[in-house]
Amino acid sequence: MRSIVWFRGKDLRVADHGPLVEAAASGEVIPLFVLDPHFFAPERARLLPHRMQFLLASLKELETSLARLGSRLLVVPGRSVEVVPRLAALWQAEQVLAHRWVEPFGRERDRRVADALERAGIPFKRFEGETLLPPGSVQTGQGGMFRVFTPFARACAPRVAPDLRAEPKHLPPVPLDVAAETVPIPSMEALGLAANPRLQAGGEAAGGARLRSFLAGPLARYGLDRDRMDRPGTSRLSADLKFGTLSVGLVWRAAAEQGGAGAGPFLNELLWREFSHHLLWTWPELLDRPFRPSFEGFPWREDAAAWEAWTQGCTGYPVVDAAARQLKAEGFVHNRARMVAASFLTKHLLLDYRQGEAHYLHWLTDGDWAQNSAGWQWSAGCGCDAQPWFRIFNPVAQGLKFDPDGAYVRQWVPELAALPVALIHEPWKAPKALRAGLDYPEPIVDHALARARFLATAKAHLGRPPT
Ligand SMILES: Cc1cc2nc3c(=O)[nH]c(=O)nc-3n(C[C@H](O)[C@H](O)[C@H](O)COP(=O)(O)OP(=O)(O)OC[C@H]3O[C@@H](n4cnc5c(N)ncnc54)[C@H](O)[C@@H]3O)c2cc1C
Repeated sequence: MRSIVWFRGKDLRVADHGPLVEAAASGEVIPLFVLDPHFFAPERARLLPHRMQFLLASLKELETSLARLGSRLLVVPGRSVEVVPRLAALWQAEQVLAHRWVEPFGRERDRRVADALERAGIPFKRFEGETLLPPGSVQTGQGGMFRVFTPFARACAPRVAPDLRAEPKHLPPVPLDVAAETVPIPSMEALGLAANPRLQAGGEAAGGARLRSFLAGPLARYGLDRDRMDRPGTSRLSADLKFGTLSVGLVWRAAAEQGGAGAGPFLNELLWREFSHHLLWTWPELLDRPFRPSFEGFPWREDAAAWEAWTQGCTGYPVVDAAARQLKAEGFVHNRARMVAASFLTKHLLLDYRQGEAHYLHWLTDGDWAQNSAGWQWSAGCGCDAQPWFRIFNPVAQGLKFDPDGAYVRQWVPELAALPVALIHEPWKAPKALRAGLDYPEPIVDHALARARFLATAKAHLGRPPT
């Protein structure tokens, strides 16, 4: 049997790779990656510079790993919906194997590829693996998707038992009669992008090293440290999970086997990831619309100056500004800082969560449609099991609690580095002489006034908050 294994940017690994294992067990294997202009045209690649850097590095490593195993990654430019069926016919493949994608546009792509392949009599087999359980398979007693996380997690967790597939020891060489218009993996420069040296390294080896060091250190204290913006208390595996340089099953199994006090809270976060994917599978429209219909037509403001201040990290609120700057510098933001920054944009500034969502997708290395959309809707209060809209993070209180010494702020907002701890989250309270020496803006909105404005606007649109 001759199989095409179609790698698609969410499974850039050789370990625990169902399609690769099945293809290798059944005969000839043709590993394929398509450089679809939807992502790889320079004008599209510019929309995701950090994700592209991580992806290209991971792809390079995949190419090396496949060569080490005796095979070869064929990289072909063109639209997937045309290239895959055409090459499958040309190469006389008997099946095409790939991992399933959750996003609506990925599902539509796969539907079209499946139709074209079916017309040629070639099966297109999709494997689970992006999530711990097949999306849509965790259901309420009535047979629908859960709308609240906790019961979802309770139903999901006992069923998770990852059946990991060992990395193949060898792969057969790509058949000699397979010749294609292959091209080298493009460089960042070829796509018109400058590499960012501060980004996490992509690839399965770097991901494995991150996992090992997390298991050896922060996992034990994860429950205590995960909210601390000033500590390296989380796994930093989000980009690995997004691009599939590590399978989520493997990460789950590793943390569960390690055990200890931190394992439970960590697995719970993997379940939040799971929840967001199952949500998007059930309600594909979530990428465009709020989960809560009452938020349709919400009177978000337009305010170019406020938007500029938020994106540039110049709002005058230290944690919000630290998050904005970390995002662009590292392509990463601590989860607590993401929540504070997103709440500030939507509630203090009353700007549309979709603006923030797009900005994050642009800059994040782990930018993931399902998780990012869920995170923004949660923060704005319009999502599934979201933070209630009438709860508004106080950025100062958040800073005092989760960055008590101000180390996170000092790292990302160096113009405040010399302030004493008591003033680091409220620099406007510094004595006049000290303030005059700070090259840092006054708050662009007053917390109490902004809070009152959001509550009044939301109450008028949504009705009274529950008492
Ligand atoms: C506004 C906003 C936008 C977000 N956008 C993204 C995004 O684009 N991509 C992304 O991967 N995560 C996103 N998150 C979730 C979370 O912030 C990141 O997953 C986390 O900060 C990544 O760091 P880590 O790998 O060290 O996480 P850890 O704390 O080590 O958690 C382990 C893994 O669990 C998952 N996870 C953790 N927290 C969450 C969460 N709240 N929701 C869903 N999954 C979670 C991630 O895959 C993460 O890698 C967003 C959250 C918010 C509030």
